[in-house]
Amino acid sequence: MYDTLVIGAGPAGGSAAVVAAELGLSVALVDEQRGPGGQVWRAKSAAIIESRATPESRAGDKLRQDISASGISTYFSKRVWQIQPGKGGWKIYIASAETTEVLYARTLVVATGAQERVIPIEGWTLPGVIGLAAATAMMKEHKILPGHRVVVSGCGPLLPFVAHEIVAAGGEVAAIADLNSFGDWIRLAPALMRRPDLALRGKNWLGALKTAGVPMLYRHSVTTVIGEDSVRGVRISKVDGSWSPVSGTETYLDADAVCLGHGLMPVTEITRLLGADHTYARGLGGWHVTSDDRGRTSVTGLYVCGDSAGILGAAAAPALGRTTAHTVASDLSKAPRRRSPHRIPTCFGSAMTSLTRVRPGLIDQIGPGTIVCRCEGVTRAELEEEIGTGAQSLRSTKSGTRCGMGPCGGRFCADTVAMIQEKLTGKTREEIGQPSARPPFRPVLVSTLSGTFIYEDLPLPAPAPL
Ligand SMILES: Cc1cc2nc3c(=O)[nH]c(=O)nc-3n(C[C@H](O)[C@H](O)[C@H](O)COP(=O)(O)OP(=O)(O)OC[C@H]3O[C@@H](n4cnc5c(N)ncnc54)[C@H](O)[C@@H]3O)c2cc1C
Repeated sequence: MYDTLVIGAGPAGGSAAVVAAELGLSVALVDEQRGPGGQVWRAKSAAIIESRATPESRAGDKLRQDISASGISTYFSKRVWQIQPGKGGWKIYIASAETTEVLYARTLVVATGAQERVIPIEGWTLPGVIGLAAATAMMKEHKILPGHRVVVSGCGPLLPFVAHEIVAAGGEVAAIADLNSFGDWIRLAPALMRRPDLALRGKNWLGALKTAGVPMLYRHSVTTVIGEDSVRGVRISKVDGSWSPVSGTETYLDADAVCLGHGLMPVTEITRLLGADHTYARGLGGWHVTSDDRGRTSVTGLYVCGDSAGILGAAAAPALGRTTAHTVASDLSKAPRRRSPHRIPTCFGSAMTSLTRVRPGLIDQIGPGTIVCRCEGVTRAELEEEIGTGAQSLRSTKSGTRCGMGPCGGRFCADTVAMIQEKLTGKTREEIGQPSARPPFRPVLVSTLSGTFIYEDLPLPAPAPL
């Protein structure tokens, strides 16, 4: 049995694992990716021959070295799909593409990070439309561009970053459609100047985009993606202060790809299943597990750090991880209690997250026939009909329409459904609640779980007498 098992080897979980090992704990670290780094410090694929070093790639390389030198038991390319409370700790089920394993740990650190939010628009399910955050993963790890002529649309700091990376790699950005106004960015200047290094990088991206002649359309949004079996172009509209499209302002642009994203949300399936308290805060990306300033949740032996406890970004994640590792070690009586937690640099991350606080008018871009649940093909009109007949919670819309029953388990659509419900019923997000969490947390092949067996060998009970 490990002293602690950390789920997620990003800046938060990776740092937590290294510090916990330094403090003398036996540590297991599990991540579904091929190695440490998480989303922002991800390792480049070995197939990439040449790529410029960045502050993120250097931080990732340092984390990878620290983990290799630490004696931590690592489980990469393995996803945690189920967890149960066990005797004196936790029973953790992990699966790779071929095999399953069960691990035991006295404590659990959940550092599962964030997932991206994409509010649907007409045509968003066409091949060639990808998430803004997903685009960073494709470009960083594999150096693959989303397309030849790309429109980048949504909100937050990933907009200029993604556009800059496309241009730097030789691609063309047809336009950036930013829901925020230029003034919304300028208002954050005092917070951004707390990290002059990061602010300067942002300024350099904007300078490079200007030199490349990329149109920056503030207070605009892509409202329709046009094409039959791939992206041919987009319609872009001006939006008002609540991000609702302004009628009569539509223009058309040719494009073969669209990067679309509306911020990040904490990943909460594991902490929800394990019964921890959660809080809704728009400024932290929405629903997140409630924790004290040392990483403890409301459940004994269950700790959290990084974006899964609220979106504060990569600048805060390592310090959050280190704090949580110290808490685990002192709770297990393996290290003295720190008098004060580590200083967490939250200012920059909070400012960036504030640019992705989705405003209520954004859902006006979802037409009645637009698919909201991609897995089950459920449209906004079908959801509205269900809500009109009395569905008041995410669970009831799910039972009535199958929305959220597909392979993604509602991770993509639940937030949009809750926004539609909020608008139609006047209920708060707390009243609407969260979807119920069920294993598997991530898709797992049934053949992996069952293994090979001979049906006749199964210890089936005899049939009941008639
Ligand atoms: C797709 C994506 C791309 C992003 N790109 C950028 C970027 O380019 N620049 C930037 O500043 N910020 C980016 N962010 C935000 C950034 O991820 C965070 O701010 C930062 O990495 C937080 O660190 P973390 O350690 O909390 O989480 P992460 O870095 O997200 O690490 C979480 C880890 O947990 C693992 N995990 C989750 N669930 C399971 C499970 N059930 N089983 C096994 N492993 C699991 C994931 O594979 C991941 O490696 C991105 C976010 C996303 C979702």
